[in-house]
Amino acid sequence: MIKVCKFGGTSMADGTTMLRVRDIVRSDAARRFIVVSAPGKRYSGDNKITDLLYETARDVEKTGHVGEAFEKVCARFCSTVRELGLGFPIEEVLSATREEIEQNKSEDFTASRGEYLAARVTAAMLGAAFVDARDTIKFDENGKLDAEKTYSLLKDALLSHDRAVLAGFYGSMPNGEIRTFSRGGSDISGAIAARAVLADVYENWTDVSGFLACDPRIVPSPAGIRTLSYKELRELSYMGANVLHSESIFPVREANIPIHIKNTFRPEDEGTEIVPPEQYRFGGNVVTGIAGKKNFTVIFLEKSLMNSEVGFAYRALACFMKYGVNFEHIPSGIDTMSFVIDGEELKEGVLDRLVEDIRAAVSPDSIRVFDDVALLAVVGHGMTKSVGTSARLFDAIANAGVNVRMIDQGSSELNIIVGVDNGSYERTVRAVYEEFFKHH
Ligand code: ASP
Repeated sequence: MIKVCKFGGTSMADGTTMLRVRDIVRSDAARRFIVVSAPGKRYSGDNKITDLLYETARDVEKTGHVGEAFEKVCARFCSTVRELGLGFPIEEVLSATREEIEQNKSEDFTASRGEYLAARVTAAMLGAAFVDARDTIKFDENGKLDAEKTYSLLKDALLSHDRAVLAGFYGSMPNGEIRTFSRGGSDISGAIAARAVLADVYENWTDVSGFLACDPRIVPSPAGIRTLSYKELRELSYMGANVLHSESIFPVREANIPIHIKNTFRPEDEGTEIVPPEQYRFGGNVVTGIAGKKNFTVIFLEKSLMNSEVGFAYRALACFMKYGVNFEHIPSGIDTMSFVIDGEELKEGVLDRLVEDIRAAVSPDSIRVFDDVALLAVVGHGMTKSVGTSARLFDAIANAGVNVRMIDQGSSELNIIVGVDNGSYERTVRAVYEEFFKHH
């Protein structure tokens, strides 16, 4: 039995939390491979080490030298090592790191040092080997993970130790330069490690007891989710349920490795298990979870006989390509088509130019733009199995007095996406939660 355990920033925050990590790892001999994030916040308002390192990268770019932010990084690591009573030469390692940061001058390199240092301290604490992601996680020329190479290097590096610690968040380019994943990317490193050693389970240790049926800032203490399928996870995390980086699913999915989300601060809680299709058992709840995000823009096109016009969508989409604008959904009807776009994609007048181009390209009867749209994803395999789910959903929304702007029932059939005004978002989430989790 092999378990790969990834510990997030709050688990690495200081000496006290790291002792929890130590106890969790030691309590199970199968927990052989540990992947760590950089230390996160100890209390609200505290700094994340990674944020301080991005600030350091800016300091180096401006002045050629690290600044105050890096001093804070050093102070954090020194006090953690002191708290843990380790004989680890942290001062030396930090001064070597400082030099490298000033010489290297790359933002990714600087940002990656939080994980690097955290992994070295963790390895010292556990008496385990340190495995550098620089030597084992490899990207290709285009910055895409070179999966084959990575799995083989990582497998050899990890399996030659009884216990080893890998730094999360980064790897290296063919020329050896450090490259990071996107923010929160240590979850991806953990998944890659699990895939490389063909672990029995990928344990992801964080500061919550797994996924909740909806955002606890909107509904106080919502139900927890015990089991999710890979697909449900993908839909929920893409739509903002940010317990786990949405890309961490890919490496483990191809090897059918389950992910277990656990809480470092309440290890006795069951957490959420994310399982491959053949292990998924329908838990009886029609809806598994609700997630969502605000600030989308919808471009709505109407044209009679649109459906019989060959190349209509093609011409409209060419306009998106021209401006490099990504879209999220394209719900369409016989004579209508909507494009749902994340507001972030439409900065600096791009929207106006895009709309003009679409108008010229497809001559619609009308084209309208709705700003400030929030999307709600209602996710669950159970939805296909039970008749009347969408009626219940839309009744609940209507009864809350909310006007639906857009509906997209993805062809995946485990997801209904509803667009409402930003201002009605919270109310809608509450109404949907009440309907599917409280009544029955
Ligand atoms: N430390 C990195 C970040 O804050 C990566 C991670 O924690 O997963 O984004």
